[in-house]
Amino acid sequence: MLPKPKKSLGQNFLVGANLNKKIVEACRIKNDETVIEIGPGKGALTGLIAEKAKYTYAVEIDKELSERLCMNFIGNTKVKIILADFLNIDLNRYLPCGVKTKIIGNIPYYITTPIIEKLLKHSERISWVYLTVQKEYARRICAEPGCKEYGSLSCFVRYYAKPKIEFYIKSGSFYPKPKVDSALISLQMHSKPPVELKDRERFFALIRSAFAQKRKTLKNNLKSVLPQQTICSFLEKTGLGPKARAEELSLQNFADLANL
Ligand code: SAM
Repeated sequence: MLPKPKKSLGQNFLVGANLNKKIVEACRIKNDETVIEIGPGKGALTGLIAEKAKYTYAVEIDKELSERLCMNFIGNTKVKIILADFLNIDLNRYLPCGVKTKIIGNIPYYITTPIIEKLLKHSERISWVYLTVQKEYARRICAEPGCKEYGSLSCFVRYYAKPKIEFYIKSGSFYPKPKVDSALISLQMHSKPPVELKDRERFFALIRSAFAQKRKTLKNNLKSVLPQQTICSFLEKTGLGPKARAEELSLQNFADLANL
C-alpha cells in the first residue's frame, strides 16, 4: 500500500498521465542529456524522463518513496535513485564536467527559493531548469521591468537565466489538492551574464535595497546606500526621472548604478 502523502515534505503528487507527458515533453530532453530530477516521489515523471535521457539521477528525501522507486527501476542502468535532501547534496558530484545537465522537478513549494538559489549557484554546469512552482511565484520570477510583480527575485534570476512560464497547472492536477494553482517554469541558463559587473555582491545588495519598500521611490530606498547626488544624476541621465521606482529599472540600469 502507498504511504499517506506527507504534508511536511510538500508531497502533492501529480495525478494525470497526460499532464505528466506534457511536462516531460516541455522539457525537450535529448538522448545525450543527463537529467537530475528533484523530488521524484512516486515516479510520475521519472519513467518518462528516463525513457528520453541518457542518464537520470532522481533525488528523493523520503525513505519509503525512494525504496519504492529503487524497486521500480531495479536493473535499469540509466537511472539512479538517490536518498538525500537535495539542499544538502554536493551538486557538483552529479553535474558532469563539460556536459550541461537539465534539472527537472515538481518540487515542494516551501523550498522553492533555496532550490532555485542552489541551482543558480551552479549555473555554469546546467543548461535548463524546469520546475513546477506556485503560480504567483512563477509570475514574480518571470516578471519584466514595469510589471507589478517585478522585484529583486526577478532581477536575481534574470542575472543567471532567461525565465519563462511554460504553462499553468490547475491545483486539481495534484493529490492532495493544494490551495493554489501552479505553473511549469523554465530557466535557460545564460552562458555569459547579460550585464558586466565590477562587484556582483554589491549589485545584488543594491537591488535588495532598491526594492526594500516597493512604495518608496528609488531615491528614498537607496538613501543610505548611495549619495543622493549620484542617484539624482543617474536618474536624470537615464531619463527615468526623479520619482522613479525600482520596478522601472532594467537589469542593465541596476548594473550601471552598481558600477558607478
Ligand atoms: N515528482 C512527484 C510528482 O510529481 O508526483 C512528487 C512531487 S511532490 C510535490 C515533492 C517531492 O519532493 C516529494 O516526493 C517529497 O518527498 C520530495 N522532497 C521534499 N523535500 C525534498 C528535499 N529536500 N530533497 C529531495 N526531495 C524532497
